[in-house]
Formats: sequence, structure tokens, C-alpha cells
Amino acid sequence: MTTASNERMKEVSPAIEYAPAPESRAIVSIRERYQLFINGSFVEPQEGKYFSTINPATEEPLSEVALATEIDVDLAVMAARRAFDEVWSRMPGRERAKYIFRIARIIQERARELAVLESLDNGKPIRESRDVDVPLAAAYFFYYAGWADKLEYVGPGPVPRPIGVAGQVIPWNFPLLMAAWKLAPALAAGNTCVLKPAETTPLSALLLADIIQQAELPPGVVNIVTGAGETGAALVAHPGVGKVAFTGSTEVGKRIQRTLAGSGRRLTLELGGKAANIVFDDAPINQAVEGIVNGIYFNQGHVCCAGSRLLVQESIAEEIVERLRRRMASLRLGDPLDKNTDIGAINSAGQLEKIHRLSKTGEAEGAVAWSSGCMLPERGYWFPPTVFTKVEPAHTIAREEIFGPVLSVMTFRTPAEAVQRANNTVYGLSAGVWTEKGSRILWMAERLRAGVVWANTYNRFDPASPFGGFKESGFGREGGRHGLESYLDR
Ligand code: NAP
Ligand code: MG
Repeated sequence: MTTASNERMKEVSPAIEYAPAPESRAIVSIRERYQLFINGSFVEPQEGKYFSTINPATEEPLSEVALATEIDVDLAVMAARRAFDEVWSRMPGRERAKYIFRIARIIQERARELAVLESLDNGKPIRESRDVDVPLAAAYFFYYAGWADKLEYVGPGPVPRPIGVAGQVIPWNFPLLMAAWKLAPALAAGNTCVLKPAETTPLSALLLADIIQQAELPPGVVNIVTGAGETGAALVAHPGVGKVAFTGSTEVGKRIQRTLAGSGRRLTLELGGKAANIVFDDAPINQAVEGIVNGIYFNQGHVCCAGSRLLVQESIAEEIVERLRRRMASLRLGDPLDKNTDIGAINSAGQLEKIHRLSKTGEAEGAVAWSSGCMLPERGYWFPPTVFTKVEPAHTIAREEIFGPVLSVMTFRTPAEAVQRANNTVYGLSAGVWTEKGSRILWMAERLRAGVVWANTYNRFDPASPFGGFKESGFGREGGRHGLESYLDR
């Protein structure tokens, strides 16, 4: 960041030093090569091509992963269709539940392995993968296993039927958790799946394939095809896929919507966000500051529902920003496998470049950046936690999703103005409200155009709670009873 911001940095206390406490990577054995997971086995890709996935904290290659082309996607969809017709859709719900429970239990048993692998491939701190990603992934499988024999209670109308083959495309920010969000409800509802993980983070999905084998799921019920955007495009365009579930950027989401338009095939989209975290003058200040930090610096800001716009009531703005800087200065950035690390690596060179570009635009448009001045490791992709003040609603950084540890601060005077500013976005995924008054929380929640509104907390997830957006953040809900609806025909 700028020299001016580094100067200011000296005013706040430095991070406390801790001795390194790295989690051992010996728990996970990464194969040199991973093939495609089709019809219950790992198989060679038809064209024999592979790509490498790296550790973004060190740039060290981790493994070679098969590149699935249209032919492989076709084989996977056909395997899924056979498994749907012959086994999975005919199996009583209570039997399907046993397999899904088994997957949940094996995820718990192999939790450390999954957490280390996720941190290596994605760059996120082990504390997060261990305490958030992996336990939540297990929780989603447990939760939906419980629904498999209760589908008649999902909603009004007769006993619902599964759709068929679900084609599911997921991003790199929560690789295992997004796989769980997609697979668990689809399987509980009686569908079979073809899942395409992100190019930069395929390894936890491939370990999940191993778990699926261990759980003895019938062949073809879950298929995993690795590759880049073209593999995803081939999957969503495949006429054998009856339902597409996509999580990723708004741009790709719109393209998929065009592909599916008029086909009668079902679609749900979970896209970008530009959430407002709104702090009133009666908020518990320390908790609010923790919530703001958790809202934007959690997972390096690689969170679609990140609280990337901070709206503070004018009278407390200075105090909040001051306390926030002090807290930011104590965040530890570095080795994702170290249990003391708060901020890990940015997932890819491309994403880092995007964060740099948007931050520079922010400064060029007149906003003022401050970052905690922490030392960045020499190798790997890193960006320090950064806060922008003097942000105007028209600024690019107030409108565009940065998907990095960059917060834009704006102020408001009245609750009505807070609502107006919060809703002034093309997105509508989430929002946060910090105030002592319960009535104000409800008043705000009614008016905020956001799929999730957290009150006096941020970034909390529960499998029983539906999640999804308004406007350009997409449509459809994942989680809870609602998450089953798009996987069922009536
Ligand atoms: P992305 O480019 O849209 O990628 C998401 C997934 O789609 C990846 O698996 C990607 O493959 C694949 N893909 C790319 N082009 C495709 C195409 N034409 N057809 C089908 N699939 C295609 O998004 P990203 O840049 O990786 O992820 C960051 C974005 O995702 C952010 O904007 C964020 O807000 C959004 N996101 C939203 C949510 C949510 O729940 N709403 C959750 C997480 C992320 P490759 O990786 O191989 O390119
Ligand atoms: Mg990687």
C-alpha cells in the first residue's frame, strides 16, 4: 500500500508474535495424478490430457488432474443416467439415507485429512478449513440424509419425484463445502450427479470421490469431472442433464442461463454479491468490529456473501474505523497450515491481479486505502487486509465485487438512508445489521433486498437455513427444506 498508509500503520500496535504451530501435512497423501471419477471408478480421460493444481501459498505444484472434455462429460452423464434409472431413483428413501449418512460420518473420520488438503489447494487458513469448511460439509450431508425418507413433507402437492441427472458446477472459494451443498440435497431427493469442481481447487472433491467409494455408493450415482470452464460449459449444455446447479460469477451465470433458456431444464444460480454490513450507533462496538473483520477478512474475502461494504452511522464512524485498524494490525497473515494464521493466500494469480486492479481503481477514484502493513511472504499470492475510507457510492469499489480482503467504508445518518445505500447495488445476496434494538433489526430485515440478513453476527451458516440471492446474485435456494425443491418434480 501507499507510504502514507504505512506511516499511519506505526500508530497502531503490531501483531503479537506466536511460535509457528503448523499442522502436519503428512496426514494427507496427495497422488501424483488424479483421473476422472466416473461410474464408481477413477478412469483415464479420453484425450489423455492433464493440468496441474498448485499450492497458492508457495506456488508449488501439488498434483496433475485429468482434463475432462465433452466425451468424458458425456460418459459421466450416461453413467449417472444409468445409475438413476436402475438403482438410485428406485431405492427407498430410507436406504438412500444410509449412504448419505455414511458419507457424512466418513467426512468426520477423515476431517483432518480433508482440512489439510483444502488448505494446501485453496490457500485458506487451516483454522477455517478445520473449524468451518469440513464440519459444515459433514453437517450438510447429515442434514439432508435425514430428509431422504421424508420428501412428502417438502412442500404442498403430491409425493414429489426426483428429476434425473443433476449437473453441478462449483467455484474455488469453498471447494468441499460447495460440493456438499450441491451433492447432499440432490442425492437425498433421489437424483444422480455429475459435479465439476473449479480448476484451481479440484483436490478435495477428488478426496470426496475416494470417500464416496469407501461409502460404497452404487457406481454412477456421483461422478466427478475435473477441468476448466470448457468442461463446465459442456456439462451444463448436455441435454441429458435435467437440472443445473451453478455457483460462481454473475458473468458465467448469465451465460448458463442463456444456454438453458427454453430447454425446460431446471436451473438454480448462486452468483456474486456486494453485501452491506450496517453498524448503528447503539451497536456493541467490540462485537461489531469482530463481525466486520469476520465479514470481510474471513477466507481472504473469497466469500460471495462477504460484508464488503461497511455502512456506519456517522456519529461513530471515526471510532469504528480506528478500532478496526487496530484489530486489523493484529491479524496474522502467512502459512495457511499454521494454526495461528488468520489470513491465508489468495487463491490464484488471476484473482490477485483482479484485487490489485480494483484497489488501484479505488485510489485513482479518490478513496483512501489503509492496510495493516504486515509482511507478505516472498513466494505465493498474498494481499494484506485493506480498508478504504472516503468511499462514495458511485466508486467502482463500492459497486463491483472485489472478492478479496478489501473493505469499503461509507456512512449514513438515518435507518432509511442505511436501507437505501445498502440496496443500491445490482446484487442481493446478504447483509448484516448491528444494533441493540430488536425492533430495528426486524425493520431493516423487512426492507433489505438480500437473501440472508445476519443480525449482530456475520457469515454464519446452518444446513437447515436456506441461502440464496435476489437480483444479479441469482435465484433458487440452497440449504434447508427449500434446498430440496429445485431437485424435485411434482
Ligand atoms: P467462475 O469463473 O464463474 O467459476 C465458477 C465455476 O464455473 C468454476 O468451476 C469454473 O471453472 C466454471 N466455469 C467457468 N466458465 C464456465 C462456463 N462457461 N460454463 C460453465 N461453467 C464454467 O467464478 P470464479 O471466478 O471461479 O469464482 C468467483 C465468483 O464466484 C465470484 O464472483 C463469487 O461471487 C462467486 N461465488 C458465488 C457464490 C454464491 O454462493 N453465490 C459462492 C462462491 C462464489 P474453472 O474454475 O475451471 O474456470
Ligand atoms: Mg490449487
